[in-house]
Amino acid sequence: MARFIFVTGGVVSSLGKGLSSASLAYLLQSRGYKVRLRKLDPYLNVDPGTMSPFQHGEVFVTDDGAETDLDLGHYERFSGVSAKKSDNITTGKIYNDVLKKERKGKYLGKTVQVIPHITDRIKEFIKNDSSKEDFVICEIGGIVGDIESLPFVEAIRQFANDIEKKNALFIHLTLVPYLKASDEIKTKPTQHSVKELRSIGIQPDIIICRSERSIPLEHRKKISLFCNVDIKNVIETVDVKTIYEAPISFFKEKLDVQVLNYFKMKSKKPVNLNPWKKITKIIFKTKKEVNIAIIGKYVELKDAYKSLDEALAHGGIENKIKVNLIRIDSDKLRVSEIKSKLRNISGILIPGGFGKRGTDGKIEAIRYARINKIPFLGICYGMQMAIIEFARNKLNIKKATSSEFDKNGVHVIGLINEWKKDGKTIKGTDKDLGGTMRLGSYDAKLKDNSLIRKIYGKNLIKERHRHRYEVNINYKEKFEKNGMSFSGLSPDGSLPEIIELKNHPWFVGVQFHPEFKSRPLAPHPLFSSFIRASKNHK
Ligand code: GLN
Repeated sequence: MARFIFVTGGVVSSLGKGLSSASLAYLLQSRGYKVRLRKLDPYLNVDPGTMSPFQHGEVFVTDDGAETDLDLGHYERFSGVSAKKSDNITTGKIYNDVLKKERKGKYLGKTVQVIPHITDRIKEFIKNDSSKEDFVICEIGGIVGDIESLPFVEAIRQFANDIEKKNALFIHLTLVPYLKASDEIKTKPTQHSVKELRSIGIQPDIIICRSERSIPLEHRKKISLFCNVDIKNVIETVDVKTIYEAPISFFKEKLDVQVLNYFKMKSKKPVNLNPWKKITKIIFKTKKEVNIAIIGKYVELKDAYKSLDEALAHGGIENKIKVNLIRIDSDKLRVSEIKSKLRNISGILIPGGFGKRGTDGKIEAIRYARINKIPFLGICYGMQMAIIEFARNKLNIKKATSSEFDKNGVHVIGLINEWKKDGKTIKGTDKDLGGTMRLGSYDAKLKDNSLIRKIYGKNLIKERHRHRYEVNINYKEKFEKNGMSFSGLSPDGSLPEIIELKNHPWFVGVQFHPEFKSRPLAPHPLFSSFIRASKNHK
């Protein structure tokens, strides 16, 4: 049976529970164990799919087509294990399941209540599909004390009892602030947070203290004493310069050793930190820089393009160059300013997006990249915009547009009518917005002698999708005659997956999101190639 590790947070949010969980997963894996990571989100949305990236950051898509919390991206990038639908759940989904069951009369006339019905459903989710794992690390979103997270905390308390406490470990992550004015480190918020956790029946086994500076022994002793935790289990995590240092820093603090000790388990092999050491060294040593512009609607919130930022950084590591991301708000980008704003840019990237706002600026920037031969990567919406730009300015179809934001005009981009998955045909719709896009991993066949074929080094690829609209295949011939090749198609040839320009050093548009599959220890070839081209453009 798997051992379960529950990670809760206290004092403030955004302390890095996701990164801590992901780092722990790497260390346990490196010691020879099989690990799975899960996230329990307390909000009422059924999934983050319909939430604005401004509110919630990026929506991370799994191979099996789930729209999930961005922490699952951290998990994948650090553990290398692809997340599944069954690894992220929200309060909304739990209630949805319970209420559906209630409508079917499955509760046999009983009063349906938070305890036991909601908590039972949470416990089912935690345990589901875990029999082959050595460890399941479950992160609880939000912080202890939030009304919304209460049923989750109650469920993990019960769960630990159900499987016997020795098979479950509670880790609590808190903030240990440093007060500049009095030059003091304060443990009181941690004490209060643990008190809060204990009031709902959970005694943490390990406390991870996030701090700006190293925590002296006397303060650790205080936390150990007041929070009733062995001093060896008071682990500090001091701010790191790059997130790739996190596994190294938790290893130094013996987090993994303490976890194994708790479960009375032994390490199967020594931890290998070399890959992380290698990449942090590259990051710290690299002096050369390359400027990449990301032109999108959500650039103000850094987390809105989390996987993309990471994938570009991975491309930089692979090319031993620092990638400076210049974020340009497409909403505010005036056509007249494009030249001046893109002057020192070596590569232009248009990420995924929705709706009409900001399209003019994006289209003009693509034209600028096409004509001035600046490396360009268009992702999903970015590829669709590249198609519209080419149709309008090169094919002279002035009214070319997408039915996503203009019901009139010439639809070079249109609603997907149907597409195939595992032999089945699915109908596209824009009526119900939640979970109805073309989601998850689909195959694409690459054209021989194309740039994309060279980049991937194979003919058939699998990439993750998240879109409702599609390039109209009927225009293929017209585009290709004029220099834009459809170099990747769905296996049945009906859906354009990749476009590229013939007379351009590096101009690629992809209908999928390659950023979701890039990992620091295995950078995605598309990003490595894009950064290489941008580096050469300088
Ligand atoms: N809005 C576009 C569509 O639904 C693109 C989506 C995206 O970029 N992820 O097809």
